Amino acid sequence: MSRIPFHRINWPTSLFLIITLFVSLTALPVYLWHFGLDWFQVVLFLALFAASSMSITLGYHRLFSHMAFKAKWPVKVWVLLFGASAFEGSALEWSADHRRHHKFVDHDDDPYDISKGFFHAHVGWLLFKLRPVPPMDNVPDLLSDKMVTFQHRYFPVIGAIMNLVVVPAIGWLWGGWQSALGALLIGSVLRVVLVQHSTFCINSFCHMIGKRPYSSRCSARDSWIMALCTFGEGYHNYHHEFQHDYRNGVKPWQFDPTKWAIWTMSKIGLTSNLRRVPDEKILLAEIAEQQIQLEEAIAKRPSKERESTQHILEVAKQRLQQAAQSWEQCKAEYSRATEKKIEASKEKMAQLKRDFEEAAENLRRAIDEWREAHQMARATFA
Ligand SMILES: [Zn+2]
Ligand SMILES: [Zn+2]
Repeated sequence: MSRIPFHRINWPTSLFLIITLFVSLTALPVYLWHFGLDWFQVVLFLALFAASSMSITLGYHRLFSHMAFKAKWPVKVWVLLFGASAFEGSALEWSADHRRHHKFVDHDDDPYDISKGFFHAHVGWLLFKLRPVPPMDNVPDLLSDKMVTFQHRYFPVIGAIMNLVVVPAIGWLWGGWQSALGALLIGSVLRVVLVQHSTFCINSFCHMIGKRPYSSRCSARDSWIMALCTFGEGYHNYHHEFQHDYRNGVKPWQFDPTKWAIWTMSKIGLTSNLRRVPDEKILLAEIAEQQIQLEEAIAKRPSKERESTQHILEVAKQRLQQAAQSWEQCKAEYSRATEKKIEASKEKMAQLKRDFEEAAENLRRAIDEWREAHQMARATFA
């Protein structure tokens, strides 16, 4: 029988997680039984839930951990303030952990390594201390950001003031002590518990349920159900493949309110330099993954059936690889020229543009041909 390693328990974090959950399951129902629920508490809860959840997804995650876009100071103040109120640590330590998660995903140095099981990835890694504590040597950019280091120093105080003073005070202004108590239980305690578990789900469920359309190299998965619970972070397979993209739900129909918020703020100048992976590159990743799966399925067939199909697929694959390579080259040359990193005359620029457009057209044709070959192979083995 496995025993709990008591000597490794991180007591402050563990007590915080247990007590807030306990209060949500006991004191909160008693309050609701006595006083009922009015619309003010619901609105306050939803506003705070959205503000602090997005501070984590938009701020801690996409802005600080991945530098997927740039943000003006009001956005940074908002995410650092409400991020502290979610009690998920400082933006600095959160980002250090998260960058290690991406670098060592599914391995021992991944702080929330899913190969150690659901419980470890969800919350176990927080309950039991890592020894020795890993150095913060992967966040030099954030260590030189004064707002980030200030929040790192004072985040417990900021979080306590937000949850124990500001939120109950809003409740008190609305309806006296009874409303203040409701705001504390619903707007602070319950909201913190739900925001935290929404984040924890990204480390656990998003590495367990869903599909892997972009890469099966790691355990991260795309799941629309998880996207609904995590402000768009559920498209985690895409995110692990293209971590610097400001979007996680990259298809137009995918639910990603964090992406919509970043984009909307860019229209009023609050965010800028939104990083996007080109559509062609995304499509090539999807195709490469489908190719791997199809090759695995074909390999299981008798050799006579395999040969002709494999030949057709191989031709289409090579043609696609060549087209992708020349597209990458033309794209790099053209963007170097547009960013004025090389001297180019007007005629040269026009030529580079034409080459790039031609390479893109050639790539689209190669993709169509690959799709036809792929469909034919599937039909043969259906
Ligand atoms: Zn992950
Ligand atoms: Zn990430």
